[in-house]
Amino acid sequence: MDIPGSACSDVSAIAREIELSHGGFGFFTPSSTYHRFIPGLQGGKMSSSIPESTITFQEPDEAVRKKIMAAFTGGRPTLAEQKELGGEPDKCPLFLLNLFHMVEDDSELDEIRNRCLSGEMMCGQCKKETAERVLEFLRDFRGKMDAVEHLVSL
Ligand code: SF4
Repeated sequence: MDIPGSACSDVSAIAREIELSHGGFGFFTPSSTYHRFIPGLQGGKMSSSIPESTITFQEPDEAVRKKIMAAFTGGRPTLAEQKELGGEPDKCPLFLLNLFHMVEDDSELDEIRNRCLSGEMMCGQCKKETAERVLEFLRDFRGKMDAVEHLVSL
């Protein structure tokens, strides 16, 4: 866009006015955006071509539970080491799954993190708790999908 004579600092405001006058949304331009990607359940890329890396909305409960129980974690190689050193929640896809999607309450997340870091909680227990949260989330979500299904026309 060429706006002759405009100071650089005015360009985005003028461009926004032009966009609005053409029926656009006129969003303010960000200078940058920051994203954090959640890894797949196996620790690598989350992808539909790697079924064990993801959970889909219509998967049977047992399949969901199995994937979570088989997930990569930030746990230590042995129980003794985990009790002594604690786990590594920041490297753990399951902790990130809880952080991003499953636990809204920050104090509850803090508790999970602290139980992990202190070695109080082992990954097996954490996986079971996470699986219950995910299944509860899916039940609620599927219910909502069913409630509006009649509005969708194909
Ligand atoms: S205890 Fe939970 S948060 Fe910690 S490393 Fe194991 S699975 Fe991850």
